[in-house]
Amino acid sequence: MSTYHSNSMQAFFPSEDGNSEERQQFMSLIEQLIVGVDELKNPNGVNLLGEKDRSPSFYSDLIADSAIPNESTAQEEVNTHLLKLLHNHPYHSKYFLTNILPMASTPGILGMITAFLVNGNNLWDVYGPAGAEAEVRVISMMSKLVGYDPLQSGGYTTWGGQGAIFTGLRLAIAKFVPDAPRKGVPRNLYAFCSESAHYSLFKSMEATGLGSDNLIRIRTNADSSMDTEDLRQKMEQVIAEGGIPIYVVATTGTTDAMGIDDVQLIRQTAIEVSYAHGLQRPHIHADSALGGFFAFFREYDFDANELNFLPQVLHALQQIQSRMQYLSLADTLCFDFQKLGQTPYSTSLFLVKNALDLKLIDLAEEETPYVGHRGYGDYHTGYTLECSRMASSISIYSALLAFGVKGYQRLLAQFVEVNLAFREELRLEIPEAVIVNDENPAIMTLFRIYPDRRNDFQKELSGQCYLAEIEETNRLNEELFDVLGKQRDIMFFGDTKKHLVVPTMEGNQISLYAAKLFVISPYTQVEHVKEIVSYLKQNIEPLFHSHADTLQPIGG
Ligand SMILES: *Cc1c(COP(=O)(O)O)cnc(C)c1O
Repeated sequence: MSTYHSNSMQAFFPSEDGNSEERQQFMSLIEQLIVGVDELKNPNGVNLLGEKDRSPSFYSDLIADSAIPNESTAQEEVNTHLLKLLHNHPYHSKYFLTNILPMASTPGILGMITAFLVNGNNLWDVYGPAGAEAEVRVISMMSKLVGYDPLQSGGYTTWGGQGAIFTGLRLAIAKFVPDAPRKGVPRNLYAFCSESAHYSLFKSMEATGLGSDNLIRIRTNADSSMDTEDLRQKMEQVIAEGGIPIYVVATTGTTDAMGIDDVQLIRQTAIEVSYAHGLQRPHIHADSALGGFFAFFREYDFDANELNFLPQVLHALQQIQSRMQYLSLADTLCFDFQKLGQTPYSTSLFLVKNALDLKLIDLAEEETPYVGHRGYGDYHTGYTLECSRMASSISIYSALLAFGVKGYQRLLAQFVEVNLAFREELRLEIPEAVIVNDENPAIMTLFRIYPDRRNDFQKELSGQCYLAEIEETNRLNEELFDVLGKQRDIMFFGDTKKHLVVPTMEGNQISLYAAKLFVISPYTQVEHVKEIVSYLKQNIEPLFHSHADTLQPIGG
């Protein structure tokens, strides 16, 4: 593919010496991709242009058709295949309103490219010095942001908010049972999180061998935050039955509704119950994967309001910040930069208040014959579950430098402002769509419709609805999910089948379904809100009619 190499195999690689001919060639290949995507862009829809015939046999056809080509292929041609993958792909236009699925920012992408250009292994600073340096820097930056002591704290980049929750649990086990990493995990250890927590902990319980039956779900309040009285009772109950509470996950920003657990109260409750029984306190992980980014407002002077946020936006930000203020009381935290940090997948940062905790799960010298524990090299991440690691910290570093505190403040404030405008317009234009996370100022809105345009939300919350009624309402909302989901190339909304678990008249428990608007694209502006709500109205209105038609008339 290149004439600049003495050996044709070298043409597959960037140059050794930095010559300009090969640079131009590399640049033109990258340009081909960028131009190709630009040509597919379609700001008036959600998906990129291009054909994608997703017939029922789509995946089986792929299996039948795919094989490694025998001959090499020119990269220009490979690029055309790559671009075809992107045909009809969801893209973060102003109508991309579905979930916490952000666009990768330019600084984030450039940071990734920087890492790829040297392809260091972040396992050890002898192999990946750039990644190690960036990792130490971003851990210090984020520690200072949340109020951890950067000289005591530690952490690393990992596979998602889930990876952070998982290692939080590994730390909890090792703190309570120091020989568990060698002897295995006793069966009487218990973890706790709210009903609105992410399912990551459920998965982690399975993977550590504790089993998900040892995960105790705590009731939530109407604002989706953990009911700490229920935490107290359930911890007491576990201890009474011979169990040991080792891990409490406080969700600081639930994925669906932005409920924010009170980390201080959870910590205090956990301490009181444990100490009363002569136990050490559980490890507290604040699952701040999503919401933690509001820590960018920790030092914002809300009175001076330097960035001139509108009064309602300022009020919302202040409310979020006040609920987030105790993040630094948690033993471990997570920042999913691939969420509100605006970097590509996967760039999650796991932060540990006391870096010495990581020693509990580190590898011993005799277990690492290839790397680390040498007279050279000072940074070896033997405590991560991964061995080789990508240097995703470089992308995080790039984004933090480029956006700066004020850049993140402006962007988050924009998301909040658009969401507030959406709620206002929804209340005005579609009053029968009940906002069910109204107590949480946030960047998303959950709304639920009821048969006959009722508003049963308060009745549902207080346990005054029959199971059949709630099921019927859930079905109506599921119809709305289907209608919106089928047209997601016009506007892409989200939905959830687990907003709040409520009691029924019969004494059962049931989850509420709700449709969701998530402000996540930088291209969604307040001026687009009217159009978005009117689109929703067009789609909700017929549902009420068709639902009324399906009801059996009395005596008919
Ligand atoms: C997204 C999310 C997770 C899972 O994070 P991944 O990066 O997808 O692994 C966990 N907890 C919360 C609160 C989240 O929002």
